[in-house]
Amino acid sequence: MTTNNETTPIFGTSISERDVIMKKLHDNPVEPDVAYRLVKDQLIDEGNARQNLATFCQTYMDPEATKLMAETMEKNAIDKSEYPETAKLETSCVNILGDLWNAPDSERIMGTSTVGSSEACMLGGMAMKFRWRHLAEKRGLDIQAKKPNLVISSGYQVCWEKFCVYWDIEMREVPMDMDHLSIDTDKVLDYVDDYTIGIVGILGITYTGKFDDIKALDDLVTTYNETHEHELVIHVDGASGAMFVPFVDPELAWDFRLKNVVSINTSGHKYGLVYPGIGWILWRDKEYLPEELIFDVSYLGGVMPTMAINFSRSASQIIGQYYNFYRYGFNGYKEIHTRTRHAAETIAKAVQKSGYFDMINMGDNLPIVCYKLKEDADVEWTLYDLADRLLMKGWQVPAYPLPANLDNQVIQRFVCRADLGENLADELIHDFNQCLEDLKHARILYHDKGEVKTQGFTH
Ligand SMILES: *Cc1c(COP(=O)(O)O)cnc(C)c1O
Repeated sequence: MTTNNETTPIFGTSISERDVIMKKLHDNPVEPDVAYRLVKDQLIDEGNARQNLATFCQTYMDPEATKLMAETMEKNAIDKSEYPETAKLETSCVNILGDLWNAPDSERIMGTSTVGSSEACMLGGMAMKFRWRHLAEKRGLDIQAKKPNLVISSGYQVCWEKFCVYWDIEMREVPMDMDHLSIDTDKVLDYVDDYTIGIVGILGITYTGKFDDIKALDDLVTTYNETHEHELVIHVDGASGAMFVPFVDPELAWDFRLKNVVSINTSGHKYGLVYPGIGWILWRDKEYLPEELIFDVSYLGGVMPTMAINFSRSASQIIGQYYNFYRYGFNGYKEIHTRTRHAAETIAKAVQKSGYFDMINMGDNLPIVCYKLKEDADVEWTLYDLADRLLMKGWQVPAYPLPANLDNQVIQRFVCRADLGENLADELIHDFNQCLEDLKHARILYHDKGEVKTQGFTH
């Protein structure tokens, strides 16, 4: 065993001989620079985040934002009294989102930051459940007779399934088919009854990037509410779209302009351009957030309402969100998102031009490019092979089946983000075409059983 002193090079230390992944704590401390290097190196063998086109989550922020966030990690977002200025930044973010989402009365909105959209959706769902129960009891409905239900398209993100399991709600899925790759507005009301706590509209279906037609949904709900005592409401899951659409398609009515849309969530770490760990939910009016869900924490000698599920967490993500709002302003976001969309459209056109694919999303709503192999494509390879090929060049682009009813359809999806500049997109297109060319000639199982000489693929 070697002994270490401060001049021992990191890779000469005895600890560097051991596996970094521990099953139990080792006995003695490790020098911080050694610990830093070895833990960091342990993470080398992972995909490059910037080339990970499988995720909506941000992989780039200004160095100034990163610095500010690193310098504020110790602030606890729940300690409103100790960190009142941080609390003001959070309130300001809620007001900014209320304005972006066209809340009719800024004095009446309620909202909070969360860890992400999943926590935000839980809150939105709970608020609908509690409100439904109050109103149902008032009307004299036997609320024990049946489980309450939630109506959503089968393209839901898994957080809604969690919500329904955790809070004992029946999830009623409106099936998608190839003609309806978003909620089928001809059928949605068939799934509604007096036990429906609400309908979720999705602004940006995770699988395909398609939008539910929230305006059409709102019209249906208006008509329903005219003839029913039971009041239907809409929650919009805008995890990906709610911080994208207001900047690039402000005329699309999907938000609080529609009067049955009572709450909206978004992920600040998707097109809010913050590193993972921040989401938001807003209610259009206090009326839609039942009081049992509001708790008071002390704030400057008084109290402040909070409604998040989580208690302690770092405020740095909220500060990062505020930094972005402050730094970019409306036009900054608009420029970034417009350019991202342009990059997506460029990629989509290149994919289409290859002739092998049926396009599902051309990147013109969210900057998502999504496609499937043409049924009559005369090729040996599958989208999974193409995904492998792209991975050889560092690009992580998943292929996966669509949800229930469509699960025989395999699709592939590129999620374009702010840090995929036009130049990188060109690089990607070049690599993509090269992969197609390689696949044309590839024999995946190249070696004959008895062969010993060559290795690798043929070109
Ligand atoms: C990503 C996503 C979620 C979950 O969001 P997180 O912020 O990752 O918790 C929920 N709904 C939709 C539609 C999404 O795309």
